[in-house]
Amino acid sequence: MKILDEYLKQNEKSAEKFREASKFLPSGNTRSALYWPPYPIYLEKGRSNIVYDIDGNKRIDFNYNNTSLIHGHNHPDVMRAAQAQLRKGTVLGTPTEPEVALAEELTKRLEKADLIRFTPSGTEANMQAIRLARAYTGKPNIAKCVGAYHGSWDAVPLTPGTPGIPSKVEECTIYFPYNNAGEAERLIKLHRDSLAAVIIEPTMRDMTPKPSFLKTVREATESSDVPLIFDEVISFRLSYGGAQRYFGVLPDITTMGKIIGGGFPVGAYATSEEIFEPMKIPEKNLPEVGSPRLGFSGTFNAHPVSMAAGLAAMKMLPQTKYDDLEKIGNQIREGLRKVISEENVIAQVGGVGSLFHLTWANIEVNDHASSQTADRALYHIFNLGMMNKGVFILGHPNVSTAQSLSDVELIVESARETVREMKPLIKERAHHLIN
Ligand code: PMP
Repeated sequence: MKILDEYLKQNEKSAEKFREASKFLPSGNTRSALYWPPYPIYLEKGRSNIVYDIDGNKRIDFNYNNTSLIHGHNHPDVMRAAQAQLRKGTVLGTPTEPEVALAEELTKRLEKADLIRFTPSGTEANMQAIRLARAYTGKPNIAKCVGAYHGSWDAVPLTPGTPGIPSKVEECTIYFPYNNAGEAERLIKLHRDSLAAVIIEPTMRDMTPKPSFLKTVREATESSDVPLIFDEVISFRLSYGGAQRYFGVLPDITTMGKIIGGGFPVGAYATSEEIFEPMKIPEKNLPEVGSPRLGFSGTFNAHPVSMAAGLAAMKMLPQTKYDDLEKIGNQIREGLRKVISEENVIAQVGGVGSLFHLTWANIEVNDHASSQTADRALYHIFNLGMMNKGVFILGHPNVSTAQSLSDVELIVESARETVREMKPLIKERAHHLIN
């Protein structure tokens, strides 16, 4: 196949590195999402909107470490802030000033959050948010959308029956379909006495919520007295106040990650003073020292370099920047839709704001079940074809403030050429996707 042959030709050093990596790392790597057949490319450096690999290929980035670099690679202001902090040491061992400044910057963007705590990742933000909700309500169970990713850990598997998770733990997780307001409402009301929280990614895997869905979940959780958590690890890039502000639905607890660390490891969870009560450390006079009901620690929590870089990144994001990102997102979505229709193939172009994607399915993809109808092989081949043409897309394609108009033209024209190259394959394995 032409696309595969070209990929092998362009990426010989990456092939060699992957063979070496497979001796030391399971499947050659550390993040399942970063493996793709025949082997991933090895990136060496990034500058602004461009990534460079070890074979010397240069590609326009539409991945940005899975949505985390909202200003692109090595933005001078973010780098300056990180380097200035690094000159003071790596990690210091007490609370630091940048932590306080980023806490202020983020809580002022969230209407229902008085306070915030930082973690080294989005996964840990969700872990702590759920533990806090359990401590606050005194109830054991959580409800989540089937297929939703909230990090790689036990309370939130993508789907029931995940290996390695004891059935006793699984019993505490209740699933409902994304975008099905009626079913969500029914389950929340049915389980209200056992539910410590409902956790939702407002734009689950970059799908757009139906107008009534978030609102219904909000009303059902509110009337059932169940805290609602929005996992905004990705969707916080939708507006100055995240997806909650974009869609006008406010959760009780917000978790964040990715962009708020300016490219360094980070996570955070924010909520009201009332919900944070279990973590409140009682103030005592020496020699007595107070202990909270629920402790929370982590050697690298609120890492000063992440805090300083994150603050610099967030300070450069007034609402107008999100509007600009959305305009680019719209141009890309429109361009891809045009290609799909003009090339007489069937695929779904989706995403919202700065997030976009192309899914090889012949029905609208708006929940886990419909996403499962997509042809995954075509998805991979499309990505390889795009990489061959100097476009790096993967996972959750997205744009940064470093993107230019010519990038939009490049991605749309590369998609056209790639779709043309893929036509024989589409005819062969997915006739239902030919118009
Ligand atoms: N929640 C969502 C919605 C995510 O997309 C991710 C990561 N892709 C996480 C949580 C976990 O974040 P991290 O990878 O920083 O642990």
